[in-house]
Amino acid sequence: MDRVDLRNFSYDDLTAFVCNELGEKPYRARQIYEWLYLHHVTGFEDMTNLSKPLRAKLVERCRIDPLEPAKIEKSKDGAEKLQFVLEDGSAVEAVLMPNDGRVSLCLSTQAGCAMGCAFCFTGSLKLERNLTCAEIVEQFRSVTRYIDGRFPRITNVVLMGMGEPLANLDNVVTACSIFMHEHSYNLSARKVIVSTCGLIPQITEFAARSEAVLAVSLNATTDEVRSQIMPVNRRYPLADLVATLEVFPKARRKRLLLEYVMLGGVNSSAEDARRLCKIARRVGCKVNLIPYNAHPASGFEAPSMENVLAFQRIMIDAGLETFIRQSRGQDISGACGMLGKRAGD
Ligand code: SAH
Ligand code: SF4
Repeated sequence: MDRVDLRNFSYDDLTAFVCNELGEKPYRARQIYEWLYLHHVTGFEDMTNLSKPLRAKLVERCRIDPLEPAKIEKSKDGAEKLQFVLEDGSAVEAVLMPNDGRVSLCLSTQAGCAMGCAFCFTGSLKLERNLTCAEIVEQFRSVTRYIDGRFPRITNVVLMGMGEPLANLDNVVTACSIFMHEHSYNLSARKVIVSTCGLIPQITEFAARSEAVLAVSLNATTDEVRSQIMPVNRRYPLADLVATLEVFPKARRKRLLLEYVMLGGVNSSAEDARRLCKIARRVGCKVNLIPYNAHPASGFEAPSMENVLAFQRIMIDAGLETFIRQSRGQDISGACGMLGKRAGD
């Protein structure tokens, strides 16, 4: 019999498992959650407030095998990239970004990615598989063990590493519920961000099932350009994507964010900025500009700083909250769109 991985359970599912399968009282679920997500233990024998027979049952029927980083690279800007090799040999990466008082962690949700965006290194790798919920939350647990008190705790989690989170919807929804649960990390919904390339049905489903923030990678303002750089646009074109975001309930739209990768000479003109203003105003949300991070798998060019600032100026003058995402970990291939194993890694 396969042992049950307890990190795949939401709190309610763990409570049901503890009661129905292990014949224990519901409060045991809280104790187990606290051992897993407040104390980050890696074995059942460490769960010292559980009875001996319960611990024996857990050892026999359940698992919480830890993942430890196989490789750690440190950027001169303070970001660190941690590589994890999973049981089947696939490798994924997480990026830790300490930033006075705020500590952000970027996690992977798939090994590789099937979406094939032209500007993204992960997109050149092809999809190996979805990560389990346990593998997503274990990245968080493992990085917390690695930090070992050197920084304050992780304050923000972004599912923007390798993969398309909404192509792995169930596991991502459960992982977010664990990050936000009061007996676990207790992160507020504003501090948990899931980024998607724009899978329309899954966007609506995610909104119904999770309180976390949704960041949508728009990346172009015309179908012509978007379809060239993001094959997903041929299935879910811009007008439909924008219409989906527009009909989000108002309260939900506060939890929405547009991301816009700026590629020099491709999608970064003043005209693009004006079209992006219209879209952002219709959707009613903030915009994050992400200057392209160059890597050998694609031939785009980063826009000049003047180009980025002029683009942002047009947006701000139109009354739209627009931020430039500070690129972290470029020198260790840890920035947006650079994750994935290279030949020789
Ligand atoms: N698959 C999801 C999340 C992972 S990519 C998505 O596409 O949204 C996270 C962000 O990095 C996305 O906004 C994506 O457009 C951006 N990105 C990808 N490659 C990039 C690159 N080379 N430079 C800058 N941003 C990039
Ligand atoms: Fe996949 Fe996102 Fe990269 Fe596109 S940008 S290939 S969806 S990880």
